[in-house]
Amino acid sequence: MEILLKNLTKKFPNRNKSQGGYIVAVDHVDLTIPDGKLVGLLGPSGCGKSTALNLISGLEKPTEGQIIFGDRDVTDITPQERGVGLVFQSYALYPHLNVERNIRFPLENLKGKDKLTKEEMAKRVMEVAKLVEIDDYLERRPSELSGGQQQRVAIARALVKNACVLLLDEPLSNLDARLRLQTREEIRRIQKQTNITTVFVTHDQDEAMSICDLIAVMNNGAVMQMGRPQDVYDDPSSLFVAKFLGTPPINVFNGHIGDGGLYIGKDRVFDLAGQQRAERDVFVAIRPEGFIPDDNGKLICTPGRIEVLGRDVSILSGHEALISDTGLIRSIVDSDAVKMSEGRQLTFSLKKHKVFVFDRESELRIPFEVRDE
Ligand code: ATP
Repeated sequence: MEILLKNLTKKFPNRNKSQGGYIVAVDHVDLTIPDGKLVGLLGPSGCGKSTALNLISGLEKPTEGQIIFGDRDVTDITPQERGVGLVFQSYALYPHLNVERNIRFPLENLKGKDKLTKEEMAKRVMEVAKLVEIDDYLERRPSELSGGQQQRVAIARALVKNACVLLLDEPLSNLDARLRLQTREEIRRIQKQTNITTVFVTHDQDEAMSICDLIAVMNNGAVMQMGRPQDVYDDPSSLFVAKFLGTPPINVFNGHIGDGGLYIGKDRVFDLAGQQRAERDVFVAIRPEGFIPDDNGKLICTPGRIEVLGRDVSILSGHEALISDTGLIRSIVDSDAVKMSEGRQLTFSLKKHKVFVFDRESELRIPFEVRDE
């Protein structure tokens, strides 16, 4: 089931009387969530991810805009009638009911033509319990399960009514690191097996990048960019997106375009192709894997220290044009490529596809072409 968000906006009254007005939690969002895909809504705290999910589920009503499921406008339809399965960070299982009753619960409220017999309910519960691999635990109470198992029960309960859309709000937040990894793979498997259109809210980029078909990066209620995780990482449209994706984070410098070249501070790192470009100040951002230690390199840094990461090493260095709280450039290079002696300058050449240039005002990406040597 494709989900279409058209001009979707949600404003909350600002409870801070002295400020008055509204908080715009979701700001004129246009988004297509393709049928059968797992789509991650990703962004920092307060960017509007959960509100967007609540609008899709029907728990919140939009101030403006439309929500379309397939060819059905569901904007004014109740959550029950939308046929969505919801899973939250807190599993919200009934503690006094065993797993079987917890999963069956939504089926017991079905009315009229949807009403199921006891046998039909038992069959359906077993189907979803098998799908999430919790069928051996049907008699247990939630307190007798691990966090990961409880989350699987919550997913089974969300799916049991033959949901057409699965909505997950930070479903892994309560799990420890190992279980998070395991459960996110589990979510991916269940989604693939059922082919259910799924929207997954998280602030954790690794989580989103690793399991989602598509990610939508949000900021201040707006979708900044949507695409396949690798494409968004390789081709960020704004400085915000470039900075939000990637660990270690991208390195940002004060830069300048002028005299046919791209400069970082005083270092002319690339000769630019094409017409002479207008002089302008820019931001230059370089992914950690974009640095190559090279005696003839154009970026001249002050050496810091080396962190060994196994196959790769991270070189921490400095540059006067760097914009960073830590004051350190973090580059990741092949361990064989490192030769760094204390006190001397450290020079890098740069992989051009790992270097991005952004407008100083709008912080939007500026394409540039390097002149071949
Ligand atoms: P987090 O990751 O911290 O959960 P989020 O990206 O999911 O954040 P939302 O919970 O959607 O963000 O909130 C978006 C904005 O709307 C925030 O500024 C929040 O304070 C505000 N907000 C959310 N719900 C309400 C509400 N019921 N009343 C007033 N403001 C709200």
